[in-house]
Amino acid sequence: MSTPAKIPPATLAKLAKLGIHHRSDLLLHLPLRYEDETHLAPIESVQPGETVQVQGVITHSEVAFRPRRTLVCRLQDGSDELYLRFLNFYPSQQKQLAVGKQIRAVGEARMGYFGLEMVHPKCRAVDDDTPLNSSLTPVYPTTAGLSQATLRKLIFNALETLPLTDTLPDALLQRLRFADFADSLKLLHNPPPDVSASSLEQRSHTAWRRIKFDELLAQQLSMRVHHRERSKRIAPKLAAQHRLTDALLRALPFVLTGAQQKVYAEIAHDLAQPHPMQRLLLGDVGSGKTIVAALAALQAIENGYQVALMAPTEILAEQHYLKLREWLEPLGVTPVWLSGSLKKKEKTVAAERIASGETPLAIGTHALFQQNVEFPKLGLAIVDEQHKFGVQQRLALRNKGNEPHQLMMSATPIPRTLAMSYYADLDVSVIDELPPGRTPVVTKLVGDARREEVFERVRAACVAGKQAYWVCPLIDESEALQLQTAIETHETLTQTFPELRVGLAHGKLPPAEKAAIMAAFKAGELQLLVATTVIEVGVDVPNASLMVIDHAERMGLAQLHQLRGRVGRGAAESMCVLLYQQDRLSELARARLKIIYESNDGFAIAQQDLQLRGPGELLGARQSGVAMLRFADLGEDEDLLEEARLAADELLQHHPDAARAHLHRWMASKHDYLHV
Ligand code: ADP
Ligand code: MG
Repeated sequence: MSTPAKIPPATLAKLAKLGIHHRSDLLLHLPLRYEDETHLAPIESVQPGETVQVQGVITHSEVAFRPRRTLVCRLQDGSDELYLRFLNFYPSQQKQLAVGKQIRAVGEARMGYFGLEMVHPKCRAVDDDTPLNSSLTPVYPTTAGLSQATLRKLIFNALETLPLTDTLPDALLQRLRFADFADSLKLLHNPPPDVSASSLEQRSHTAWRRIKFDELLAQQLSMRVHHRERSKRIAPKLAAQHRLTDALLRALPFVLTGAQQKVYAEIAHDLAQPHPMQRLLLGDVGSGKTIVAALAALQAIENGYQVALMAPTEILAEQHYLKLREWLEPLGVTPVWLSGSLKKKEKTVAAERIASGETPLAIGTHALFQQNVEFPKLGLAIVDEQHKFGVQQRLALRNKGNEPHQLMMSATPIPRTLAMSYYADLDVSVIDELPPGRTPVVTKLVGDARREEVFERVRAACVAGKQAYWVCPLIDESEALQLQTAIETHETLTQTFPELRVGLAHGKLPPAEKAAIMAAFKAGELQLLVATTVIEVGVDVPNASLMVIDHAERMGLAQLHQLRGRVGRGAAESMCVLLYQQDRLSELARARLKIIYESNDGFAIAQQDLQLRGPGELLGARQSGVAMLRFADLGEDEDLLEEARLAADELLQHHPDAARAHLHRWMASKHDYLHV
């Protein structure tokens, strides 16, 4: 950080922790809240729960020993009195708070044993003529070892010495009637006495709106700039040749739904452009994304390019491998399988076949983008369940080729405001229709007391020739415990159902064994599959029509929806039983079970999920890379987001210098992960 006043290195390091790397970053480090020390509240008017400043004389001071050592003082201001209590205190404090001293105290009032009190208020000795602060006191987000006072001094210094030029052109400012940037910033850091504290705290004040708008505008600009840059880069033109793709369509036992045709047309069009595609394919569980991916792959392959398909788990990657091999081998396209669990020698062989260029299609887990795998002619990278991958991993895969096209797939729908903000740099295709002939899954909520009934239901279904999943609970996110439960459940169920063939699948099985079990279940040799949540994504066994989810109250909405999507894939009537623990049901768990019980629509569920949990989870790994919004709130500031979108266009077209200055102010210190 370049600054006239020398800042000690230790302070610099702490500032860096707060994301402050340049002095100008200090300007945008805005208060979390404010303390009001601008006036004194008469004690008689103070309500419990209020944070206030009072002033009076200490009329009583003692150290009490029960229940524990506590300094208790009484403060009298002529209107009434209240107690000040300190559990930890120094002798110096005791002296400061001696009887007869005049004290100003700031803190939250509450009802204590003896009446109104403040616990650990901020206190200082005052005279009759000690002036009050003239403005609200900002309280900044900080980190251990960096005091409010130091931070405040640095920020105020930056405010006085740095230029606060408005980056928005006048015309725009006038049209949108926004407050001036410098005024807004000064007001937020140092609010004048007449500003209402609540409009600042709720961030509804015009100064806040200006700053939030600027933040959203910066986000829109950077997304747009990225989008533009991409359209300047060169990628191979992979126009449809209709040779392999048509052959696959002819061989399929089904016809594409209208929605599948529409999204494939969008992808086919993008692939034919000389610029890299970055398209997100959204479609609910079971909507048929795999066939679309296969068609995209074939279009690249029939142009002589290689394709990499990456999935987040071994089981899912393997399913893709098996499915695509079944579809593509008859067309003369043989995929290569590459996952971390292959033997070293097998890996080398696979990597060599990819490197020689003879392999048109490689399918696997993140092993695909390890250092020693080279794709000489990568034309298309497909990433399934993209939100499960980190930014770094996706970047690594993209870097395998010069500039491959990218297709990302996800079963988690993105609510509108998220799509408009965090995903604004991608093109999005949506499969909004399920293949025909599916019978909707019936969902049942069953309390744990009725476990026996569930056993009978499983038995009846399997005896009737159907297949079932039994999904074991998550235990405190601990893989070891989860594994143990799965093994125990498998034992119990094997004993409960001596007449059934019961298999077990979990993440720690050796891959060959796991593959054998999945294959046996698929072939109908196993009737009941006990599994951990490894089957959450992508597993496809149409004859399985019953799913029991044990301890469903522990699972998240997206996870429950994904799991339930494993049944109802055939024509048979399907059921999902959510077995839950009645006595340990939290409010949140109850709300989740209600939503999943009432809705089968992934989009509706995601909307509700957003309301229950906020955007972090839905953004998944993306949030670690993209600069999160610090001030704007997508729930509350949708109107500002709309304005920012329009303004971004206007700036880029008519005021490129302003756009650059604005981006510089807001993004200079951000890691530029936007390019992934
Ligand atoms: P997801 O979108 O969850 O990845 P899949 O691609 O696994 O869904 O497809 C789910 C099932 O639907 C698969 O068995 C697939 O073969 C089948 N399927 C896909 N498209 C159609 C279609 N148009 N008509 C009938 N079945 C289809
Ligand atoms: Mg899938």
